[in-house]
Amino acid sequence: IIQAQELLQESSFHRNVFEVKHFKYIVIGGGVAAGYAAREFTRQGLQLGELAIISKEGVAPYERPALSKSYLFPNEAARLPSFHVCVGSGGEGLLPEWYEEKGIELILGTEIVKADLASKTIASASGRIFRYQTLIIATGSEAKKLKDFGVQGADAKSIFYLREISDADKLVEALKAKQKGKAVVIGGGYIGLEVGAAMRINGFDVSMVYPGPWCMNRLFSPAIASFYEEYYSNKGIKLIKGTVAVEFEVGSNGEVKTVKLKDGQLLQADIVVVGIGGRPLTALFKGQVEEEKVGIKTDGLFRTSVPDVYAVGDVATFPMKMYKDMRRVEHVDHARKSAEQAVKAIRASEDGKYIEEYDYLPFFYSRYFDLSWCFYGDNVGEPVLFKDIGNADTDDDSKCKNPRFGTYWIHNHKVVGAFLEGGTAEENIGIAKIARLQPEKKKEELEMLGMLYARLA
Ligand code: FAD
Ligand code: NDP
Repeated sequence: IIQAQELLQESSFHRNVFEVKHFKYIVIGGGVAAGYAAREFTRQGLQLGELAIISKEGVAPYERPALSKSYLFPNEAARLPSFHVCVGSGGEGLLPEWYEEKGIELILGTEIVKADLASKTIASASGRIFRYQTLIIATGSEAKKLKDFGVQGADAKSIFYLREISDADKLVEALKAKQKGKAVVIGGGYIGLEVGAAMRINGFDVSMVYPGPWCMNRLFSPAIASFYEEYYSNKGIKLIKGTVAVEFEVGSNGEVKTVKLKDGQLLQADIVVVGIGGRPLTALFKGQVEEEKVGIKTDGLFRTSVPDVYAVGDVATFPMKMYKDMRRVEHVDHARKSAEQAVKAIRASEDGKYIEEYDYLPFFYSRYFDLSWCFYGDNVGEPVLFKDIGNADTDDDSKCKNPRFGTYWIHNHKVVGAFLEGGTAEENIGIAKIARLQPEKKKEELEMLGMLYARLA
């Protein structure tokens, strides 16, 4: 009997290994870019069975930004299916049934572990083999881990990262288990600020630790950061700047008890959330495609150096036409737009047509507590801060109920970037126009015009 079972297992193993599925188009990755690519394929006219999306995650593509915001809220938390793509840009939410109706094969819970671009073949961890005519790489990023930086005890149970929905589910479980305990948030970037706020809303006693002199120092000017830092302090969040975690003291239950910082401070912790940056997932293609700035190098149609292979979203290093340089962008607006551009380019090349090169205007945004900001363009040159005086209801900006302020960046006499906190939809469109057109303006004019300039643009 045992021999028969072994034979059966072996033969089914071989059947798996040698069963090759062919698709005209394959997208590796089932995140934001994959979902928007699927919708664009259908807009361009897709035949049943032509497209497969292969994703490590167990759910259909969703709007990842929800994970560090409403997914973590104690009340009325967002849950699937409410935030499948394309709701984040005002479109229809694409449920698994939509893919089925369109004849798109959604292959979930399947990690691609091998890619041979020369033979147009990829293989999954369970030995499934797929062949494609055209491939779109949309593998996104992974979270950098503290253990890579030699932090002692970084494998402890109560340390959380946030990238995928399964990470968010683990964090939500911990929020329930450690109710109103002490939380240490490591990192003062996008994840740190958003999750720090969500933890505070959940009633945790939150400390945030980051190495920079101010939070979000790659985007925020010191003046912008000082507003948010005061706001966070007023919400009861302790900010510890200019240092990093070097060791976690772990209890006998495998959970963190204290976090030791480089400057010698010791912080009690029931839960630790880490957001110390992302790293694009390109390892599968190492040595097979040209890379630049740790991403996969593409042209303005998202074609890589290998024929019939495209890369979009977080992994793509593409020509930023406006600034005449090559950049990688780890934000959702670009993930959506690059995916759409790649699909248009694929279909155009099949029809022998031409499409315009990608001409992207960087757009980043975030939301914490009752705050909400938008940024367009480039944050180079001199930042010019302005406030919406008419709206101030207190002298202390960070206690103002509806704070409205912003910053324009002047570079070579031109306004190249603009940031608004509390802007209206109309004003946010205004700053996008300004950042795109780069008008010449003097610092004094911008200080005087402030929000009005965005409204009139
Ligand atoms: P992803 O959306 O990350 O999708 C990649 C997919 O590929 C995942 O499903 C992954 O499991 C899968 N995958 C990877 N490797 C393999 C493999 N080998 N085999 C099979 N599948 C694989 N940006 C903003 O502009 N605003 C925000 O508010 C915002 N909030 C965010 C909040 C969080 C918690 C995170 C993590 C990111 C946030 N971002 C935000 C960034 C934005 O979500 C990303 O830039 C965007 O998701 C990138 O899209 P992508 O499709 O390239 O990658
Ligand atoms: P960020 O790069 O935004 O921030 C990383 C933070 O960690 C910075 O404060 C950085 O400091 C600090 N840091 C870097 N290295 C270390 C280290 N070894 N030890 C301690 N601190 C360190 O990355 P996040 O993790 O916040 O975000 C991950 C990804 O998710 C990014 O792609 C981001 O774009 C995306 N995201 C976007 C959101 C949005 O657009 N609203 C929301 C949430 C996530 P320093 O800067 O001084 O190096």
